Amino acid sequence: MAGDANRVRIVLNFDRKPEVNWFLLRAPHRLVVDFPETDFGIEEKETEPRGLISRVRYGRMAPGHSRMIYTMPGPFKVEEVSVLKNETSPGYRMIADIVSASESDFESAMRERLAAAPDAGTAKEVVKQKPTDDRFMIAIDPGHGGIDGGARGVSGTFEKTITLTFAQELKKSLEATGKYNVVLTRNEDVFLRLDERVRIARENEADLLISIHADAISMRDFRGATVYTLSDRASDAEAAATAARENLSDELAGLTAEEEQDHVADILFDLIRRETHAFSIHFARTLLDSLGETVHLVGNPLRSAGFLVLKAPDVPSVLVELGYLSNPEDEKQMKDPAWRAKAVDSILRAINIFAAARAGG
Ligand SMILES: [Zn+2]
Repeated sequence: MAGDANRVRIVLNFDRKPEVNWFLLRAPHRLVVDFPETDFGIEEKETEPRGLISRVRYGRMAPGHSRMIYTMPGPFKVEEVSVLKNETSPGYRMIADIVSASESDFESAMRERLAAAPDAGTAKEVVKQKPTDDRFMIAIDPGHGGIDGGARGVSGTFEKTITLTFAQELKKSLEATGKYNVVLTRNEDVFLRLDERVRIARENEADLLISIHADAISMRDFRGATVYTLSDRASDAEAAATAARENLSDELAGLTAEEEQDHVADILFDLIRRETHAFSIHFARTLLDSLGETVHLVGNPLRSAGFLVLKAPDVPSVLVELGYLSNPEDEKQMKDPAWRAKAVDSILRAINIFAAARAGG
Protein backbone atom coordinates (compact mmCIF):
# COMPACT_ATOMS: atom_id res chain seq x y z
CA MET A 1 0.00 0.00 0.00
CA ALA A 2 1.35 3.44 -0.89
CA GLY A 3 -0.13 6.90 -0.76
CA ASP A 4 -1.45 9.61 1.51
CA ALA A 5 -4.72 10.67 3.15
CA ASN A 6 -6.29 11.52 -0.22
CA ARG A 7 -5.14 8.74 -2.49
CA VAL A 8 -3.75 5.27 -2.03
CA ARG A 9 -2.71 2.43 -4.32
CA ILE A 10 -2.90 -1.19 -3.22
CA VAL A 11 -0.75 -3.72 -5.05
CA LEU A 12 -1.05 -7.46 -4.40
CA ASN A 13 1.16 -10.01 -6.12
CA PHE A 14 -0.17 -13.45 -7.03
CA ASP A 15 1.52 -16.56 -8.32
CA ARG A 16 -1.43 -17.20 -10.63
CA LYS A 17 -4.22 -15.18 -12.13
CA PRO A 18 -6.78 -14.37 -9.43
CA GLU A 19 -10.46 -13.90 -10.10
CA VAL A 20 -11.31 -10.76 -8.15
CA ASN A 21 -14.67 -9.45 -6.95
CA TRP A 22 -15.11 -6.40 -4.81
CA PHE A 23 -17.82 -4.43 -3.08
CA LEU A 24 -18.21 -1.67 -0.49
CA LEU A 25 -19.62 -1.52 3.03
CA ARG A 26 -20.13 1.40 5.34
CA ALA A 27 -20.08 2.00 9.13
CA PRO A 28 -17.11 1.82 8.93
CA HIS A 29 -16.30 2.51 5.28
CA ARG A 30 -14.75 -0.62 3.81
CA LEU A 31 -13.51 -2.09 0.58
CA VAL A 32 -14.07 -5.87 0.50
CA VAL A 33 -12.11 -7.88 -2.06
CA ASP A 34 -12.93 -11.54 -2.65
CA PHE A 35 -10.57 -14.08 -4.20
CA PRO A 36 -10.55 -17.81 -4.74
CA GLU A 37 -8.96 -19.57 -1.77
CA THR A 38 -5.58 -17.92 -1.27
CA ASP A 39 -2.51 -18.63 0.82
CA PHE A 40 -1.66 -15.18 2.11
CA GLY A 41 2.06 -14.53 2.39
CA ILE A 42 1.74 -11.08 3.86
CA GLU A 43 4.06 -9.65 6.48
CA GLU A 44 2.38 -7.86 9.34
CA LYS A 45 4.20 -4.59 8.71
CA GLU A 46 2.83 -4.49 5.15
CA THR A 47 -0.70 -4.15 6.50
CA GLU A 48 0.02 -1.39 9.00
CA PRO A 49 -2.31 1.63 8.61
CA ARG A 50 -1.13 4.04 5.98
CA GLY A 51 -2.59 6.85 3.91
CA LEU A 52 -6.31 6.37 3.47
CA ILE A 53 -6.25 2.90 4.98
CA SER A 54 -6.77 2.49 8.71
CA ARG A 55 -7.05 -1.29 8.95
CA VAL A 56 -6.51 -4.43 6.89
CA ARG A 57 -7.95 -7.88 7.60
CA TYR A 58 -7.64 -10.97 5.50
CA GLY A 59 -8.24 -14.68 5.68
CA ARG A 60 -10.23 -17.64 4.55
CA MET A 61 -14.02 -17.28 4.43
CA ALA A 62 -14.98 -20.79 3.31
CA PRO A 63 -13.47 -23.60 1.26
CA GLY A 64 -12.54 -22.01 -2.07
CA HIS A 65 -13.09 -18.45 -0.88
CA SER A 66 -10.73 -15.90 0.70
CA ARG A 67 -11.26 -12.25 1.44
CA MET A 68 -9.42 -9.02 2.22
CA ILE A 69 -11.09 -6.07 3.93
CA TYR A 70 -9.63 -2.58 3.84
CA THR A 71 -11.14 -0.14 6.34
CA MET A 72 -10.92 3.61 5.68
CA PRO A 73 -11.59 6.46 8.10
CA GLY A 74 -14.13 8.05 5.75
CA PRO A 75 -15.94 7.77 2.40
CA PHE A 76 -13.82 6.90 -0.63
CA LYS A 77 -14.06 6.03 -4.27
CA VAL A 78 -12.53 3.05 -6.04
CA GLU A 79 -11.14 4.44 -9.27
CA GLU A 80 -10.05 1.12 -10.64
CA VAL A 81 -9.34 -2.49 -9.73
CA SER A 82 -7.36 -4.37 -12.32
CA VAL A 83 -5.45 -7.63 -12.61
CA LEU A 84 -2.34 -7.53 -14.79
CA LYS A 85 0.24 -10.04 -15.88
CA ASN A 86 3.70 -9.14 -14.65
CA GLU A 87 5.99 -8.18 -17.54
CA THR A 88 9.40 -8.94 -16.13
CA SER A 89 8.62 -11.59 -13.53
CA PRO A 90 6.26 -14.56 -13.31
CA GLY A 91 2.80 -14.13 -11.83
CA TYR A 92 0.12 -11.47 -11.73
CA ARG A 93 -0.64 -8.37 -9.75
CA MET A 94 -3.88 -6.76 -8.63
CA ILE A 95 -3.85 -2.99 -8.49
CA ALA A 96 -6.56 -0.96 -6.75
CA ASP A 97 -6.59 2.84 -6.83
CA ILE A 98 -8.61 4.53 -4.12
CA VAL A 99 -9.27 8.23 -3.55
CA SER A 100 -11.20 10.01 -0.82
CA ALA A 101 -14.70 11.04 -1.91
CA SER A 102 -17.98 12.43 -0.66
CA GLU A 103 -20.46 10.41 1.39
CA SER A 104 -23.02 10.52 -1.41
CA ASP A 105 -20.51 9.24 -3.98
CA PHE A 106 -19.65 6.38 -1.65
CA GLU A 107 -23.32 5.57 -1.05
CA SER A 108 -24.21 5.28 -4.71
CA ALA A 109 -21.09 3.24 -5.52
CA MET A 110 -21.84 0.93 -2.61
CA ARG A 111 -25.38 0.24 -3.81
CA GLU A 112 -24.22 -0.29 -7.36
CA ARG A 113 -21.53 -2.81 -6.37
CA LEU A 114 -23.73 -4.72 -3.92
CA ALA A 115 -26.30 -5.19 -6.64
CA ALA A 116 -23.57 -6.52 -8.95
CA ALA A 117 -21.84 -8.76 -6.38
CA PRO A 118 -22.59 -12.41 -7.11
CA ASP A 119 -22.76 -13.39 -3.44
CA ALA A 120 -21.59 -11.36 -0.50
CA GLY A 121 -22.30 -14.20 1.90
CA THR A 122 -20.76 -17.60 2.44
CA ALA A 123 -23.76 -19.87 2.01
CA LYS A 124 -22.66 -23.45 1.84
CA GLU A 125 -23.87 -26.91 2.59
CA VAL A 126 -23.29 -28.23 6.05
CA VAL A 127 -22.39 -31.86 6.05
CA LYS A 128 -24.70 -33.41 8.54
CA GLN A 129 -22.92 -35.90 10.71
CA LYS A 130 -26.03 -37.78 11.58
CA PRO A 131 -25.74 -39.56 14.89
CA THR A 132 -25.65 -43.29 14.37
CA ASP A 133 -26.89 -43.98 17.88
CA ASP A 134 -28.81 -42.21 20.60
CA ARG A 135 -25.83 -41.08 22.63
CA PHE A 136 -25.93 -37.55 24.05
CA MET A 137 -24.88 -35.17 21.25
CA ILE A 138 -22.69 -32.18 22.06
CA ALA A 139 -21.95 -29.36 19.63
CA ILE A 140 -18.75 -27.48 20.44
CA ASP A 141 -18.37 -24.14 18.74
CA PRO A 142 -14.85 -22.69 18.57
CA GLY A 143 -15.49 -18.94 18.34
CA HIS A 144 -14.35 -16.87 15.34
CA GLY A 145 -12.06 -18.24 12.60
CA GLY A 146 -10.65 -17.36 9.21
CA ILE A 147 -10.89 -13.66 8.51
CA ASP A 148 -12.37 -13.07 11.96
CA GLY A 149 -9.45 -13.53 14.34
CA GLY A 150 -11.50 -12.52 17.38
CA ALA A 151 -9.76 -10.81 20.27
CA ARG A 152 -5.99 -10.37 20.24
CA GLY A 153 -3.87 -11.26 23.27
CA VAL A 154 -1.27 -9.10 24.95
CA SER A 155 1.47 -11.17 23.33
CA GLY A 156 -0.34 -11.48 20.00
CA THR A 157 -2.33 -14.70 20.43
CA PHE A 158 -5.51 -14.79 18.34
CA GLU A 159 -8.73 -15.78 20.05
CA LYS A 160 -9.64 -17.98 17.05
CA THR A 161 -6.54 -20.11 17.67
CA ILE A 162 -7.18 -20.58 21.39
CA THR A 163 -10.83 -21.47 20.84
CA LEU A 164 -10.07 -24.07 18.16
CA THR A 165 -7.32 -25.75 20.18
CA PHE A 166 -9.52 -25.83 23.26
CA ALA A 167 -12.54 -27.18 21.35
CA GLN A 168 -10.48 -29.95 19.77
CA GLU A 169 -9.09 -30.97 23.15
CA LEU A 170 -12.57 -30.95 24.69
CA LYS A 171 -13.92 -33.06 21.84
CA LYS A 172 -11.13 -35.60 22.29
CA SER A 173 -11.74 -35.94 25.99
CA LEU A 174 -15.52 -36.23 25.56
CA GLU A 175 -15.13 -38.91 22.92
CA ALA A 176 -12.68 -40.83 25.08
CA THR A 177 -15.50 -41.51 27.55
CA GLY A 178 -17.41 -43.42 24.88
CA LYS A 179 -20.61 -41.77 26.14
CA TYR A 180 -20.96 -38.87 23.72
CA ASN A 181 -21.28 -37.90 20.11
CA VAL A 182 -19.46 -34.66 19.44
CA VAL A 183 -19.64 -32.28 16.51
CA LEU A 184 -17.39 -29.25 16.05
CA THR A 185 -18.92 -26.31 14.18
CA ARG A 186 -15.48 -25.80 12.65
CA ASN A 187 -12.37 -27.95 12.75
CA GLU A 188 -9.98 -25.62 10.95
CA ASP A 189 -9.17 -21.96 10.55
CA VAL A 190 -12.24 -20.97 8.57
CA PHE A 191 -14.88 -18.27 8.95
CA LEU A 192 -18.42 -19.31 9.87
CA ARG A 193 -21.44 -17.06 10.22
CA LEU A 194 -23.06 -17.03 13.66
CA ASP A 195 -26.31 -18.46 12.31
CA GLU A 196 -24.39 -21.26 10.58
CA ARG A 197 -22.96 -22.29 13.94
CA VAL A 198 -26.49 -22.49 15.34
CA ARG A 199 -27.66 -24.38 12.27
CA ILE A 200 -24.92 -27.01 12.61
CA ALA A 201 -25.96 -27.66 16.22
CA ARG A 202 -29.62 -27.96 15.26
CA GLU A 203 -29.06 -30.13 12.20
CA ASN A 204 -27.03 -32.53 14.27
CA GLU A 205 -29.83 -32.58 16.82
CA ALA A 206 -27.41 -31.51 19.53
CA ASP A 207 -28.49 -31.89 23.17
CA LEU A 208 -26.11 -29.12 24.18
CA LEU A 209 -24.15 -26.33 22.48
CA ILE A 210 -21.02 -24.90 24.06
CA SER A 211 -19.53 -21.88 22.32
CA ILE A 212 -15.89 -21.30 23.32
CA HIS A 213 -14.39 -17.80 23.47
CA ALA A 214 -11.64 -15.71 25.07
CA ASP A 215 -12.48 -12.07 25.56
CA ALA A 216 -10.35 -8.92 25.61
CA ILE A 217 -11.10 -5.56 27.18
CA SER A 218 -9.21 -2.37 27.86
CA MET A 219 -8.83 -3.11 31.59
CA ARG A 220 -5.68 -5.21 31.70
CA ASP A 221 -6.11 -6.30 35.31
CA PHE A 222 -9.46 -7.89 34.66
CA ARG A 223 -9.27 -11.66 34.45
CA GLY A 224 -11.17 -14.91 34.91
CA ALA A 225 -13.73 -17.12 33.18
CA THR A 226 -17.41 -16.27 32.62
CA VAL A 227 -20.36 -18.41 31.51
CA TYR A 228 -23.11 -16.70 29.52
CA THR A 229 -26.65 -17.70 28.68
CA LEU A 230 -29.07 -15.99 26.34
CA SER A 231 -31.34 -13.20 27.52
CA ASP A 232 -33.20 -10.33 25.87
CA ARG A 233 -31.99 -7.95 28.52
CA ALA A 234 -28.33 -8.22 29.54
CA SER A 235 -27.58 -9.12 33.16
CA ASP A 236 -25.17 -6.17 33.40
CA ALA A 237 -23.30 -3.63 31.30
CA GLU A 238 -20.18 -5.82 30.89
CA ALA A 239 -22.29 -8.71 29.60
CA ALA A 240 -24.01 -6.40 27.12
CA ALA A 241 -20.63 -5.14 25.89
CA THR A 242 -19.28 -8.68 25.54
CA ALA A 243 -22.32 -9.77 23.51
CA ALA A 244 -21.98 -6.69 21.30
CA ARG A 245 -18.32 -7.57 20.64
CA GLU A 246 -19.05 -11.23 19.90
CA ASN A 247 -22.05 -10.42 17.72
CA LEU A 248 -19.85 -8.23 15.51
CA SER A 249 -18.25 -11.33 13.99
CA ASP A 250 -20.42 -11.40 10.85
CA GLU A 251 -19.96 -7.72 10.26
CA LEU A 252 -16.17 -7.88 10.71
CA ALA A 253 -16.07 -10.51 8.01
CA GLY A 254 -17.75 -8.08 5.63
CA LEU A 255 -21.19 -9.66 5.64
CA THR A 256 -24.13 -7.36 5.29
CA ALA A 257 -26.50 -7.48 8.22
CA GLU A 258 -29.57 -9.51 7.44
CA GLU A 259 -32.92 -8.71 8.88
CA GLU A 260 -33.55 -10.88 11.86
CA GLN A 261 -36.37 -13.26 11.17
CA ASP A 262 -39.46 -12.82 13.20
CA HIS A 263 -40.02 -15.91 15.23
CA VAL A 264 -43.34 -17.51 14.63
CA ALA A 265 -45.69 -16.61 17.44
CA ASP A 266 -46.58 -20.12 18.32
CA ILE A 267 -47.46 -21.30 21.80
CA LEU A 268 -45.81 -24.69 21.38
CA PHE A 269 -42.65 -23.08 20.02
CA ASP A 270 -42.59 -20.70 22.94
CA LEU A 271 -42.86 -23.57 25.39
CA ILE A 272 -39.95 -25.36 23.76
CA ARG A 273 -37.88 -22.24 23.92
CA ARG A 274 -38.65 -21.67 27.56
CA GLU A 275 -37.80 -25.26 28.42
CA THR A 276 -34.54 -24.97 26.45
CA HIS A 277 -33.68 -21.81 28.31
CA ALA A 278 -34.23 -23.50 31.68
CA PHE A 279 -31.87 -26.29 30.63
CA SER A 280 -29.28 -23.74 29.49
CA ILE A 281 -29.31 -22.08 32.89
CA HIS A 282 -29.22 -25.41 34.65
CA PHE A 283 -26.16 -26.44 32.66
CA ALA A 284 -24.48 -23.04 33.14
CA ARG A 285 -24.80 -23.43 36.93
CA THR A 286 -23.49 -26.99 36.88
CA LEU A 287 -20.61 -25.85 34.69
CA LEU A 288 -19.66 -22.99 37.02
CA ASP A 289 -19.71 -25.29 40.07
CA SER A 290 -17.27 -27.54 38.32
CA LEU A 291 -15.10 -24.86 36.67
CA GLY A 292 -14.84 -22.93 39.91
CA GLU A 293 -12.77 -25.73 41.38
CA THR A 294 -10.00 -25.47 38.80
CA VAL A 295 -10.24 -22.11 37.08
CA HIS A 296 -10.22 -18.49 38.22
CA LEU A 297 -13.72 -17.05 37.69
CA VAL A 298 -14.82 -13.42 37.40
CA GLY A 299 -17.12 -12.00 40.09
CA ASN A 300 -20.74 -13.04 39.36
CA PRO A 301 -19.56 -15.51 36.72
CA LEU A 302 -23.07 -16.45 35.53
CA ARG A 303 -24.19 -13.69 33.19
CA SER A 304 -26.57 -13.28 30.29
CA ALA A 305 -27.02 -11.15 27.19
CA GLY A 306 -28.28 -11.32 23.61
CA PHE A 307 -25.60 -13.53 22.03
CA LEU A 308 -26.68 -14.51 18.50
CA VAL A 309 -24.86 -17.84 18.71
CA LEU A 310 -27.01 -18.89 21.67
CA LYS A 311 -30.31 -18.46 19.81
CA ALA A 312 -31.13 -22.05 18.93
CA PRO A 313 -34.69 -22.44 20.24
CA ASP A 314 -34.34 -26.17 20.85
CA VAL A 315 -30.69 -26.67 21.87
CA PRO A 316 -29.60 -25.71 25.40
CA SER A 317 -26.70 -23.34 24.76
CA VAL A 318 -24.01 -21.60 26.78
CA LEU A 319 -21.08 -19.41 25.83
CA VAL A 320 -17.88 -19.76 27.83
CA GLU A 321 -15.33 -16.98 27.91
CA LEU A 322 -12.33 -18.95 29.13
CA GLY A 323 -10.60 -15.79 30.29
CA TYR A 324 -9.30 -12.45 29.10
CA LEU A 325 -6.64 -12.35 26.42
CA SER A 326 -6.07 -8.75 27.49
CA ASN A 327 -4.70 -10.04 30.80
CA PRO A 328 -1.14 -11.44 30.57
CA GLU A 329 -1.81 -14.10 33.24
CA ASP A 330 -5.00 -15.33 31.56
CA GLU A 331 -3.35 -15.37 28.14
CA LYS A 332 -0.46 -17.42 29.48
CA GLN A 333 -2.85 -19.92 31.06
CA MET A 334 -4.96 -20.36 27.96
CA LYS A 335 -1.80 -21.15 26.00
CA ASP A 336 -0.75 -23.71 28.60
CA PRO A 337 -1.80 -27.31 27.78
CA ALA A 338 -1.83 -28.22 31.49
CA TRP A 339 -4.26 -25.40 32.32
CA ARG A 340 -6.45 -26.32 29.37
CA ALA A 341 -6.49 -29.96 30.45
CA LYS A 342 -7.82 -28.92 33.86
CA ALA A 343 -10.49 -26.70 32.32
CA VAL A 344 -11.47 -29.41 29.83
CA ASP A 345 -11.79 -31.86 32.68
CA SER A 346 -14.08 -29.49 34.60
CA ILE A 347 -16.34 -29.07 31.58
CA LEU A 348 -16.39 -32.83 31.07
CA ARG A 349 -17.52 -33.36 34.68
CA ALA A 350 -20.31 -30.81 34.26
CA ILE A 351 -21.47 -32.48 31.06
CA ASN A 352 -21.48 -35.87 32.81
CA ILE A 353 -23.82 -34.50 35.47
CA PHE A 354 -26.05 -32.67 33.00
CA ALA A 355 -26.31 -35.57 30.55
CA ALA A 356 -27.04 -38.07 33.33
CA ALA A 357 -29.86 -35.84 34.62
CA ARG A 358 -31.31 -35.47 31.12
CA ALA A 359 -31.21 -39.22 30.57
CA GLY A 360 -32.79 -39.84 33.95
CA GLY A 361 -35.52 -37.25 33.51
ZN1 LIG B 1 -15.09 -14.33 21.00
